[in-house]
Amino acid sequence: MKKNGTAVLRTYTSSAVRAVQAAQEHGMNLSGSFIFVGGEPLTPEHVAFMTSAGIEVIPRYVTTEAGLVGASCTNRKNPDEMHLYQDRLAVIQGPEKRNLLVTSILPTTPKLLLNADLGDEGLLTRRECGCTFGKLGMNMFVSNVRSRVKHTGEGMSVYVSDLENILGKLIKRFGGSPGDYQFRKILEVGGLERIAVVVSPAVGKINENLFIEEILNNLSGLNDRCRLAADMWRQISMFFLVRDYPTVTKGQKQPLFISDPFRPGL
Ligand SMILES: [Zn+2]
Repeated sequence: MKKNGTAVLRTYTSSAVRAVQAAQEHGMNLSGSFIFVGGEPLTPEHVAFMTSAGIEVIPRYVTTEAGLVGASCTNRKNPDEMHLYQDRLAVIQGPEKRNLLVTSILPTTPKLLLNADLGDEGLLTRRECGCTFGKLGMNMFVSNVRSRVKHTGEGMSVYVSDLENILGKLIKRFGGSPGDYQFRKILEVGGLERIAVVVSPAVGKINENLFIEEILNNLSGLNDRCRLAADMWRQISMFFLVRDYPTVTKGQKQPLFISDPFRPGL
């Protein structure tokens, strides 16, 4: 930074927030630098935190199946508005609310996709943009991208259904029922997210440390990807126990309750 006047970092969204927090703690001035982020949603809280440190945050949207789906330019209208890579993919909004259906139009795409639902939701919009992407005719944008089926934290993704199965079996051992538990996403400073493991007060006494460790151990045992996630999430204390009744929305208990996942217009 001192030598060249600027710096570029490419990392996961939450890792970027932690890097900025660490830099601030050491009194470093990061203004004028760029961070390319991806791997997990970029929220207004993330952007506000990094922008306040003078950093330009550029989101990218990459999936295993489709490769690079989109990337932002500096003219974006909301925190994660990204130019859709129309040279390689066609994306439409599915019949369900906000789900994205992806079709590959290049033979080099990792997988051949035809209106494939990758489990992500987002908003599709069309507008002109004065940047290089816009001049090339890339006038489709995707924003507010969130996964319906995975929880992503620190760049590690795990199926919510796997987490739910683990917690369901544990709660059963403690004498609880399927209506007695839920994961609840909690927003923290800088837009970092943690997961409250909500267990009904009707279930008996639980030792928090042992209970959370058991969730992580079970997660570790599923496969290599989950083991990596468990190791990372153990280090940052991703899970904590809350004794409360699960939140019910529209008569249904969602396995992962997110209070306000979409913030259009920001
Ligand atoms: Zn642009």
